[in-house]
Amino acid sequence: MYNKINCDDNHMNKAEPCPICESLGETLFVDFDEDERFPEGFYKLEMVQWFSEAHDLRRCPQCGAYYYFTFETDNDIFCPTHTGEYKRIPGEEAERMLQEYKARLEERRKEYRKQVRKLHGKVIRTLPETEKRIVEYLTDRLYDETCAEDISKDLGIDIAVVEKALESLKEKRVVEEFSYTKELVEKRGFSESFMKYHIRRT
Ligand SMILES: [Zn+2]
Repeated sequence: MYNKINCDDNHMNKAEPCPICESLGETLFVDFDEDERFPEGFYKLEMVQWFSEAHDLRRCPQCGAYYYFTFETDNDIFCPTHTGEYKRIPGEEAERMLQEYKARLEERRKEYRKQVRKLHGKVIRTLPETEKRIVEYLTDRLYDETCAEDISKDLGIDIAVVEKALESLKEKRVVEEFSYTKELVEKRGFSESFMKYHIRRT
C-alpha cells in the first residue's frame, strides 16, 4: 500500500514515488506528430477535473499524486501541431486550481442565469414546478446539452414526467432540442439518447 498522505502534502516530491508515478517521472513533453507517445502509465491516471479542451487535472489511482495535463492542437496543413505535456504538481497547487475553477464556473453560471432571466423570465415565472426545476438544472449546466435520462436521474423525476415537461418547454420556446446522427453519437461517446436539450439562447 502506498500512503496517500505522502503524495498529497507539500513533501510529495521527497516521498518514494509509486510504480505508476515512477514510470511517468515528474514531467514529460511529447510531440504526437513526431510519433512520440506518453508512457502507458499516463492512461491509467484518473480524471479529476476537465478545465477545457487544452487543460485538465488527473490523479494517480495508486498514490493520489496530481498531474496537470496540457494538450495543444493546431491542424494547420503546413505545420500541424499536436503536443501534450504533463507535470506532477503538489496537492496544494491542485487544490488551488480546483478552487479557482469552481469560482470561475460559479461566475459564469451567475452571468448565464442573468441572460436566461432576461430572455425567458416572463415565461419562467408562469411555469409549473417540474418545468421550473428542469429550466434551473439546464441553466446550471451552461452550454452543455443534456439528455432526458440524465435530467431524470439527477433530479429524481420519473422519465415520463421529464419527457412531458420537455415537450411543454419546447412549445413555450424556453428549451431547444437537438438530435444527433448515429455517427456523431459514437464519435462523441454519448450514452443511450440521441436527443439533447438546452436553454434556447436566441
Ligand atoms: Zn502514483
